[in-house]
Amino acid sequence: MTVTAITNATLLDQEGRHAIQLEGDKIKAVVDASEVPPDDTVIDANGGLVVPSLVDPHLHLDLAYSVEEVPPNKSGTLLEAIGLWSAAKRELSVENVKARAIRAVNAEVSFGTGFIRSHVDVASASGDRLFQGVLAARDETRDRCDIQLVAFPQDGLIRDPGAVDLVRQSVKQGVDLVGGIPHIERTRREGIAHLELMFDLARELDADIDVHIDETDDPQSLYTEHLASLTIQRNYQGRVTASHVCALSSYTDVHAARVMDLIAEAKINVVCNPGVNLHLQGRFDTYPKRRGLTRISQLLERGIPCAAGQDCIKDPFYPLGTGQMLDQAFLLVHADHLSTPPQIRTAFDMVSSMASQICKRDARLIPGAAANLTIFPVDNVIDLVRTKPIPSEVLFRSRSL
Ligand SMILES: [Zn+2]
Repeated sequence: MTVTAITNATLLDQEGRHAIQLEGDKIKAVVDASEVPPDDTVIDANGGLVVPSLVDPHLHLDLAYSVEEVPPNKSGTLLEAIGLWSAAKRELSVENVKARAIRAVNAEVSFGTGFIRSHVDVASASGDRLFQGVLAARDETRDRCDIQLVAFPQDGLIRDPGAVDLVRQSVKQGVDLVGGIPHIERTRREGIAHLELMFDLARELDADIDVHIDETDDPQSLYTEHLASLTIQRNYQGRVTASHVCALSSYTDVHAARVMDLIAEAKINVVCNPGVNLHLQGRFDTYPKRRGLTRISQLLERGIPCAAGQDCIKDPFYPLGTGQMLDQAFLLVHADHLSTPPQIRTAFDMVSSMASQICKRDARLIPGAAANLTIFPVDNVIDLVRTKPIPSEVLFRSRSL
């Protein structure tokens, strides 16, 4: 059904009950609820919270539900997961990838997500099959979700030189951003060469960057400072997202402060993945075990945009994962002590407004913005994060899904 208005809506930061009028696929106006009479095409939110559809800024659609295709990850580590996935992806068909990716998009949408940034493997082992499968899934789900894709050379660019051309090919066929993972290379020097090559490719293809970086507890993993320096040297400020950045939490406070100042200077965004990094990191610790998450509160204090992603749904990296972005806000509250009401609101913003800002999508509840809206049966953001309710309605471009 095409919806013309949502009435009796509670909105963030506003008193009273409101109505959101829609026209075409956009928001037309936000008015007092009393101004919109009931009609067949008007949804009554019954006082529920209406927000722009949630954003997942970091997912792997090609990996989703692959736990069914891959032997179990016995050590639980990132490196064993990458090894298992590298072997499995040699065999996967485009159809297999497409079907699993659609299943993941549908799961995310059912929890109120309207925009996903997904990484997709580009590696010699899988050729173009993974990105072809995910591109086909994006086409098939265009009526319910916007998807941005990142070419992700999971097996390296130096270690797997065939990936370089696959990055080019994937972007030419519709993938949006260039990715990277320097910590997969054999040596630090090769990791830095990987970053340089990633910037060369991004410049050549005129693409923004989203790079998996320092996803380890090793305090000697120093790629983020190289990323910041290269971002400044290559004039790429405002076009780079650093994903994970776990090692930052293991640096000394004085070193971490220097790196965070560099991240701010380079105008790099940071995306953490609370569930997956709580699970994958700390694997070489006995007790106490580190949390694996980057220094979110300190990054936010410096005004660095931060968001939280789902990352994995039932794959060799993470056996759980539902696609419910409120899970990630909930976990952030615990993992980084975001306990006051404004901090809980910030945790929500990291799967909502800040995440959309990082992905360069305008997802605000204002006239002219896309009518991608989710209604939750609670009337405040703390209960939203606390109870993680299923949406009572999800709208995509004014259509009730
Ligand atoms: Zn990832």
